[in-house]
Amino acid sequence: MSPASTGPLPPVERVRPGLWSVPVPIPSSSLRYVFVYVFETDAGPYIVDTGWNTDDAFAALSAGMEHLGSRVQDIVGVMVTHIHPDHYGLAGRVREASGAWISLHPADAALIADRYDEPTDLLARVGSMLRRVGAPEAELSSLQNASMPVRPFVDSVRPDVLMEDGDHPEIKGWDLTALWTPGHSPGHLCFWEAGNRLMLSGDHVLPRITPNIPFHPQAGSDPLGDFLAALEKLRPYAADEVLPAHEHRFTNLQARLDELQAHHQQRFAEVVQAIRDGVTSAWDIAARMHWSRPWDRIEGFMRRAAVGEAMAHLRALEQRGVVRERVGEPSQWELVA
Ligand SMILES: [Zn+2]
Ligand SMILES: [Zn+2]
Repeated sequence: MSPASTGPLPPVERVRPGLWSVPVPIPSSSLRYVFVYVFETDAGPYIVDTGWNTDDAFAALSAGMEHLGSRVQDIVGVMVTHIHPDHYGLAGRVREASGAWISLHPADAALIADRYDEPTDLLARVGSMLRRVGAPEAELSSLQNASMPVRPFVDSVRPDVLMEDGDHPEIKGWDLTALWTPGHSPGHLCFWEAGNRLMLSGDHVLPRITPNIPFHPQAGSDPLGDFLAALEKLRPYAADEVLPAHEHRFTNLQARLDELQAHHQQRFAEVVQAIRDGVTSAWDIAARMHWSRPWDRIEGFMRRAAVGEAMAHLRALEQRGVVRERVGEPSQWELVA
């Protein structure tokens, strides 16, 4: 656990006149909280992201809204950056309380049923993926089911609005544009607020940690390639401040984009070196990569995420013609020429 994993939540803060950040707790996560951003308007508040579906989270959101002189019941619209439980999980409950609309990018909306309602087929596909990456037999079933414990924290409602790249949600007094930034999730959205030059970056760009870019059956064929391109998509925006969904607000977006690009270049080099040293399965390559804690202390969902991350690097390198997969159980990865 990092030092940031303990301690009180940050306070509700006024980011700009009429724009607030409300931290909503995420139980048993080292991220600790997600920031819900609240845009005030004459018609009522609009929010970006919600927190996940627990009584604690709903209470924190309610208290936060009251702190800024409003109520959850008054919320008019809920713009969700992506489908992960800590962002989308509570959206249904907010809609129930307020009648607000919920928006999501279509690429994430398309994943809801498979992921949260009828996961049997998805679990089977995760199982075959784990065999292909070379997960040890003894860990297969626990890894296969590793994401199931979060299901109760998601109310798998359908969005009312499909928010596409370049859409301008009509929020009076604010100048918002949705930016499709796939990678961390296939339908991830950032929001640019041109009036104040603010980038709401969701989980796409965080100040300290690098977002997990998982390769899994619901990801596209090259999620890391998508992610790296989506980092460049933000480069032209001269943001005065970046408003991420976790950690803390920050300045100098472009420097952070450089750091994230450099991080993945280093990861590519690690993967290539592992293969050069004769390590061939994605599982063994993942075990060789540098993580924030030793491999044998990475467990459950975190371990699956790590292997998914190794796979994402392998797929991106495959797209670039650097490595190729000899498909099997497990697949063997080799350098091209
Ligand atoms: Zn996320
Ligand atoms: Zn998140």
